[in-house]
Amino acid sequence: MTALVIVGHGTRSAAGVEQFVAFVERVRRRAAGTVGDVEGGFIELSRPPLTDAVGALVDRGHRSLVALPLVLTAAGHGKGDIPAALARERERHRGLSYVYGRPLGPHPLLHTALEQRVDAALAGDDRAGTWVALIGRGSTDPDANAEVAKVARLLWEGRGYAGVEPGFVSLAEPSVPAVLERLRRLGARRIVVAPYFLFAGVLPDRIVAQSAAFAAAHPDLDVRVADLIGDCDALADLVLERHAEARGGDIRMNCDTCAYRVLMPGFADKVGRPQTPHDHPDDPVGGHHHDHHAHDHGHGGHGPGGHDHRHGPGEHHERVPRPGQVAVVGGGPGPDDLITVRGRALLEAADVVVVDRLAPRGLLAGLRPGVEVVDAAKVPRGPSMGQDAINAALVAHARAGRRVVRLKGGDPYVFGRGHEEVQACAAAGVEVTVVPGVSSAVAAATLAGVPVTHRGVAHDVTVVSGHLPPGHAESLVDWAALGRARGTLVLLMAVDTVDKIAAVLVEHGRAPDTPVLAVQDAGHPDQRAVTARLDEIGAVSARERIAPPAVFVLGPVVDLRLPAEPPGPAH
Ligand code: SAH
Repeated sequence: MTALVIVGHGTRSAAGVEQFVAFVERVRRRAAGTVGDVEGGFIELSRPPLTDAVGALVDRGHRSLVALPLVLTAAGHGKGDIPAALARERERHRGLSYVYGRPLGPHPLLHTALEQRVDAALAGDDRAGTWVALIGRGSTDPDANAEVAKVARLLWEGRGYAGVEPGFVSLAEPSVPAVLERLRRLGARRIVVAPYFLFAGVLPDRIVAQSAAFAAAHPDLDVRVADLIGDCDALADLVLERHAEARGGDIRMNCDTCAYRVLMPGFADKVGRPQTPHDHPDDPVGGHHHDHHAHDHGHGGHGPGGHDHRHGPGEHHERVPRPGQVAVVGGGPGPDDLITVRGRALLEAADVVVVDRLAPRGLLAGLRPGVEVVDAAKVPRGPSMGQDAINAALVAHARAGRRVVRLKGGDPYVFGRGHEEVQACAAAGVEVTVVPGVSSAVAAATLAGVPVTHRGVAHDVTVVSGHLPPGHAESLVDWAALGRARGTLVLLMAVDTVDKIAAVLVEHGRAPDTPVLAVQDAGHPDQRAVTARLDEIGAVSARERIAPPAVFVLGPVVDLRLPAEPPGPAH
């Protein structure tokens, strides 16, 4: 049986609380048969508190919840306060886990609901002569304000109003009087003020009061205020849709223009940072923040880190490193777009990036201004920063409280010395995380059109470092066994040793005409690939001037190579 907890932020309005409670009941009714159990609670100001709602679900045996923020847009409540309150619940109940769903809007159901509220206010008067002022809550988060502007535009599209303009009741411009004045100057005679709000509260009341004051000052204008979205079936269905998305792991959070991720004028200090304490300077009676503790319902107040810009477990914001943390990130074989989503998110939040030569260096151009890039260029046989120096740099930057990303080529643990770096951090008491990467050991062949395994052709792949030639005193490789094997052999770091390796393999039983593929600069625009027989690969490779980084792929799969190379990376 599945459980859903609907999380409200709380209101001083008794009507608002009543609507929330009735709405939770409506969701429960409409969910019958699809969601096993539904509860609702507030993080502050109102009863029932979230902790009671979660406690009731836990008492009924639930250990994994879908938690939905009952907010229209993601701003301070949705990005910070509600996740923080949920994190406290998870600490309180052992074994409790939850998936955090996304905010309700934007969604066509909401636009339709707004349209119906405006039409009700028009009571038959024509749309063409009507301007709509869509009033959002307003936020210090530009992304949240931009979303209200987007909803205004979507409400205008195809519905025949003279125009729809966004405004805000708090914290953002234009204010309610300002947007009404703007519409008046545009020549509006009839204006419907449409609050983009779910339920009754102090701020919707203020919208009504400000609209009335403006109307009183302009008796020539027809100013009406539409109803709130309110407790209705459409909203309940939207909650159930968000619940289903969250359960299915399909949470498409709009983070493209989030000030915590993307540089915005005036918000440079926010990128990659935890969210700052959430305060509404213009809230009535001192504001949430100041009397928060007086209204504390036992959920413990804001603990340290409670405002981290987290959207929930498993979601990418969870992957933003904390200050003082090192992330060892596999960047893939080189092109910008073969890094993992997780690796990229960490990179975007980094204060310091320690980068290898074979890492996707193109991504460095997109780093925030001011990010320190340390070049650990490790060219084979070329100048290299000693591993000890790299380890020391990682530890020192982390100890200075920076977010450190160690950006490596391929996978950090495939001949990448990544684990030495992890060990060094752990030994120094520095928190460290590893992100796997697309390894050239597999990807070079794939990018050149050769499958490293194929049904009926090769049932094993062996990845071998060729940096030490056969017979070398320190070699750990059983070359004789590899000569007897029949499957696919992938050689890394073998440009200088491939001739000796080929000879040993033939000596121990590999057919001299075994096909070998050499792939240089796999994934890059100048990727090159040549093939040759095993007993000729050394000479061909030298003649063709195959140079590092290159991978050799050896075995019958090479004959499966398609004549046309697969499309390269998108540019
Ligand atoms: N950790 C890396 C490998 C590091 S060892 C990974 O998982 O891919 C370095 C070797 O990797 C190079 O000598 C070469 O053999 C191989 N390599 C890395 N990137 C490559 C690329 N883009 N094309 C071909 N070979 C590559």
